[in-house]
Amino acid sequence: MVDADRPTLPAEQPPEQAGRDFVRDIVQADVDAGRVKGVVTRFPPEPNGYLHIGHAKSICLNFGIAQEFGGRCHLRFDDTNPAKEEQEFIDSIQQDVRWLGFDWGEHRYFASDYFETLYSWAEHLVERGLAYVDDSSADEIRALRGTLTEPGRPSPYRERPVAENLDLFRRMRAGEFAAGARVLRAKIDLASGNINLRDPVLYRIVHAEHPRTGNAWCIYPTYDFAHGQSDAIEGITHSICTLEFEDHRPLYDWFIEHLPVPARPHQYEFARLNISYTVLSKRILTTLVRERHVSGWDDPRMPTLAGQRRRGVPAAALREFVRKVGVARAYSMVDLALYEHAIREQLNAGAARRMAVLRPLKVVIDNWPEGQVEELQAVNNPENPEAGSRPVRMGRVLYIERDDFAEVPPPRFHRLSPGREVRLRYAYFITCRTVEKNAAGEVVALHCTYDPATRGGNAPDGRKVRGTLHWVGEDAMPAEVRLYAPLFRRPDPGADGDVMADLSPESLTALQGCLLEPALASVPAGEAVQFERLGYFCPDPDSRPDAPVFNRTVGLRDSWAKLQAGGA
Ligand code: ATP
Ligand code: MG
Repeated sequence: MVDADRPTLPAEQPPEQAGRDFVRDIVQADVDAGRVKGVVTRFPPEPNGYLHIGHAKSICLNFGIAQEFGGRCHLRFDDTNPAKEEQEFIDSIQQDVRWLGFDWGEHRYFASDYFETLYSWAEHLVERGLAYVDDSSADEIRALRGTLTEPGRPSPYRERPVAENLDLFRRMRAGEFAAGARVLRAKIDLASGNINLRDPVLYRIVHAEHPRTGNAWCIYPTYDFAHGQSDAIEGITHSICTLEFEDHRPLYDWFIEHLPVPARPHQYEFARLNISYTVLSKRILTTLVRERHVSGWDDPRMPTLAGQRRRGVPAAALREFVRKVGVARAYSMVDLALYEHAIREQLNAGAARRMAVLRPLKVVIDNWPEGQVEELQAVNNPENPEAGSRPVRMGRVLYIERDDFAEVPPPRFHRLSPGREVRLRYAYFITCRTVEKNAAGEVVALHCTYDPATRGGNAPDGRKVRGTLHWVGEDAMPAEVRLYAPLFRRPDPGADGDVMADLSPESLTALQGCLLEPALASVPAGEAVQFERLGYFCPDPDSRPDAPVFNRTVGLRDSWAKLQAGGA
């Protein structure tokens, strides 16, 4: 969970340092000294949920190192807990890693591939008096384990003879006992200051169907018993993981020392990614989905890769974000603005500019010849002249953004109000003459005049206007547009203990009846466009041919760039 008292990243790393970090330094030193022949890393997700932005950091690090050092990176599913794991998650993880731009080739593995080996290694420990079957309940085991200040106490089953342990363990495997009736524990050190070494559980009875091994097993190794040995089996040279596993390293090393493993992997830990206003915990993300606070794992408000992809975030923006954040051992919380900055940077270069009006207000140009429609040229991308231009059609009736009109303009409001002249983007200067209201006194239309001499947006007499408004014509297409704000309303969700209480009621605004210029009818799925003055948007899969739905990926205001420039 995030911690408000800890610092946010002060600034982007200079480019020459980003991409270079302590993990890469370790790998480089091992390669230089000839300690490793080929670099082998792995990304080891548990298939119990969808991948999130934090996982992207680990993926980019592991696959990135393999690429840079000419080695390979395995995708290994740590599928040791069938009660929580599903094929859907295996599929989504593969899709997301590929989408991020990485390829494991033929090196896809499952911890469940090693169940037989792991089982034989467990018997190996039992035979040497290094593991025993404990009939205590989970609560009893917890109570006897002690605390940081109190040593653990032995369970009544700790001194069981080897033969009895072996017999019971085999019968556990054979399915003779109920779930939770017994566990296999390592016999290490109940007085250890490291609680992970106080006789950790190695196997538990779980009568559940496994997505890969079906009903072949009813005992499953714990994550701790499977993880390091899987690395050893695969010949992983650098087992890179997040800091919460630092205290598990002595246990992994103990297994490696006491088992006939084919290799000795070394584990290195880095600080996990935390982002303000964002929860990167699979457990909490699972709750959000289960309790329907979001529409699913790929809800565009979710920090999952599937959600971010659906929202319109390009994979390159995620890679660049992760590169900017860098890899360190010190805890930090990254400002959400840095993430959005990376997205904008990526989209700004490539996204076509279009016009859309989210909350339309009708404008009638009273001096426009009845029935006349004019075609005007609109630039597709000012950042890229090669993108060319497209026609937009203007007639006597058009629509502007309701926000762009104020009957009584507040100070410094430079948009439209009665008597005021503004520019319509790519078109003409218009002046508001009268306001049409309904019985309730609400503004329903504006009556304006245009100056035919200002075609293209400049007055031949050199007079200036302060405001330029986007607009759409009568050929506009109605659409739903979804605007997103962070799911949580505080930078450190859950800091008071109840993360769900910090959910923001305003994370989704779905606007109906928005109007899009016709060129937006043909945006391919997954492609981002800029709606002028409004932000970057992409079509949502909920779209139907006659009813498009767009997501706002990110707004235009760049608070991160401002921060960097020493602004607000
Ligand atoms: P959670 O704690 O959210 O349940 P997890 O770490 O248990 O996530 P795994 O599927 O075990 O999820 O994670 C796969 C890999 O991704 C692990 O090596 C883990 O350390 C890494 N990882 C998970 N979350 C982050 C994060 N926020 N930043 C960087 N790496 C992460
Ligand atoms: Mg984990």
